[in-house]
Amino acid sequence: MRLANFEIDGERRLGVIEDGTVVDLSASGLAQDTVEAIAEWDRAKVDHAVGQGHRLPVEQVRLLAPLKPRKNVFAVGRNYRDHAKEFSDSGFDASEKQMIPDHPVIFTKAPTSVIGPGDPIILANDPTGTTDYEGEMAVVIGKTGRNLTRETALDHVFGWTIVNDVTARDLQKKHVQWFVGKSPDTFCPMGPWITTIDELPDIRSSWMRTKVNGELRQEAPISALIFDVESLIVTLSEVMTLEPGDVIATGTGLGVGIGFDPPRYLAPGDVVEISIDGIGTLRNPVV
Ligand code: MG
Repeated sequence: MRLANFEIDGERRLGVIEDGTVVDLSASGLAQDTVEAIAEWDRAKVDHAVGQGHRLPVEQVRLLAPLKPRKNVFAVGRNYRDHAKEFSDSGFDASEKQMIPDHPVIFTKAPTSVIGPGDPIILANDPTGTTDYEGEMAVVIGKTGRNLTRETALDHVFGWTIVNDVTARDLQKKHVQWFVGKSPDTFCPMGPWITTIDELPDIRSSWMRTKVNGELRQEAPISALIFDVESLIVTLSEVMTLEPGDVIATGTGLGVGIGFDPPRYLAPGDVVEISIDGIGTLRNPVV
């Protein structure tokens, strides 16, 4: 199942994407806020609602980010070996102690940075003019959990989505802590929807690809993550409660703009497209 948010008449609604249509669940009695809907998830009820729902062609609606995060988006730095090397070589990682980390490098992005598919990434929000893209697979948590193990971790996953971990490189470097450089408004495109884990049980067999203006810049198998989904969930839940609707962006692969010499930062008029097998394509213009 592909769970989406879309807008009609300025109203945010819950929907399911099926065969090129969005099934409007606004009259179903289900919570319209995705985080709430995930917390109360009852597959039989949702299936029933989908059977009854009004269908609209996807092109006729404006898709939004598939959820409105209630807390910061978790994200992981240097989680692919070849990207860790390009990042290290670029000299942009002021927090670096070693190129390949022994433990996951976890930071967060402000929830106000989240935008939906098709929404513009606004370069003016980065005063340093060093805005870069990072295509990433993101995990959406489905159930509350603490002290999860590798064996129980995936039971707490609701599904998968795509995040562009857009970054102001000079801010990331100057502030040492990455939070400021990762959190400008519009710097967390998310979507186009959440593919539930039952539809895509083995995310490791998927590949992530990023194109800028149609040119392939990143191509990485999810299986190459240094710290896999289970490991990230174990690490976080060892110290904090994971809750429905939490999002973990799992890290980017080789081929970001600072990996080039000179760096290829985003420019007005660019279009960034991130595709992951079994999920879809997240496309955002840059202004
Ligand atoms: Mg990243």
